[in-house]
Amino acid sequence: MALIVQKYGGTSVGSIERIKNVAQRVARFKAQGHQVVVVVSAMTGETNRLIGLAKEIQSHPDPREMDVLVSTGEQVTIALLSMALMEMGLKAKSYTGAQVRILTDAAHTKARILSIDEENLRRDLDGGHVVVVAGFQGVDEKGNITTLGRGGSDTTGVALAAALKADECQIYTDVDGVYTTDPRIVPEARKLKTITFEEMLEMASLGSKVLQIRAVEFAGKYKVKLRVLSSFEEEGEGTLITFEEDTMEQPIISGIAFNRDEAKVTVLGVPDRPGIAYAILGPVADANIDVDMIIQNVGADGTTTDFTFTVHRNEFTRAMGILKDVQSTIGAREVKGDDKTAKVSLVGVGMRSHSGIASNMFKTLAAEGINIQMISTSEIKISVVIDEKYLELAVRVLHKAFNLEQAA
Ligand code: ADP
Ligand code: ASP
Ligand code: MG
Repeated sequence: MALIVQKYGGTSVGSIERIKNVAQRVARFKAQGHQVVVVVSAMTGETNRLIGLAKEIQSHPDPREMDVLVSTGEQVTIALLSMALMEMGLKAKSYTGAQVRILTDAAHTKARILSIDEENLRRDLDGGHVVVVAGFQGVDEKGNITTLGRGGSDTTGVALAAALKADECQIYTDVDGVYTTDPRIVPEARKLKTITFEEMLEMASLGSKVLQIRAVEFAGKYKVKLRVLSSFEEEGEGTLITFEEDTMEQPIISGIAFNRDEAKVTVLGVPDRPGIAYAILGPVADANIDVDMIIQNVGADGTTTDFTFTVHRNEFTRAMGILKDVQSTIGAREVKGDDKTAKVSLVGVGMRSHSGIASNMFKTLAAEGINIQMISTSEIKISVVIDEKYLELAVRVLHKAFNLEQAA
């Protein structure tokens, strides 16, 4: 007997038909003698619909009320799935995040899980119940409903698996595993049997939304056995996230991640003196805006520099506003912005021991006439910022240039 946590995403519970299908899969695992905890997302499109409603009233919806609103999506699904399980003759019980007591910090719309009280769940599991938990939501110390950021049900799943010391956490979604890149953009993308935890962490942080980054972080911290599989197929091993590197077979590049949500901000003609980076980025950080890539160039005359960085596109207008103020305080010449940029990244642990990856990447993009605006590298990834309109082309040509459609 194993304890398994299964998480089903929005498409996988997108209709009554699909919910009944999920119930059948859960029933099969129960019939094999396993204990099953199920985490579900809101039905497809529901979270977006709710956010849309809020924005019809407030252009920047109040974060606390936003969480009260969007958490309802998952509450619908837990009840429906529990009913479907009961209809099949199983014992089932639904829990909202607060009912479990998934305690989070108070950062509405992007809260972090602090602790999980797993006692009630364990009691129900021992009593033969399937426990159905609402993904994406928690409660703060004061009893306010919080949510974990888009894609947060993945994190609920992995965090519950960690708290319950589950034997496996299975993330069921609308693709049958983790691919070399998003199969919707590159149909030739190849499903990976395994991917290392480090690579998955990079892929997720660089934009592959197949797993939320915090879910991967949890899996790493608590060594949760994590697998991504399709809820549309009966069979299939999916993709296992591994903690060991298979050095014999390790390809140099495992995947390509991309992110359309980048916006670029440049402060031109900044006086080149100590403290200037802080003068620019301090106010941005104070406004709780995350900064991604940063580049500082010495200007041609040697006394001024240009300072460029990227932020999430949703924060672009706010960031520009802050920098207009900073511009006059520090005496910079100009502030420019571009919110139509995108980031493409090659990821692979094999990069550590191979050179020439970056130059091959740049050559491939140059051959298509794609201009690189910013570059950043780490041990196992290379990212470039480009004009958003070339994003899909860039991903396709890089996928081909690095032979990712073929197994290593
Ligand atoms: P769910 O609603 O089940 O959480 P998501 O839409 O959040 O599903 O994530 C699954 C989607 O992630 C896939 O449909 C696919 O388009 C996208 N995706 C992006 N990168 C990858 C990748 N490398 N491998 C597989 N899927 C990917
Ligand atoms: N329903 C939430 C979202 O759309 C959480 C999730 O699906 O993981 O972001
Ligand atoms: Mg998701």
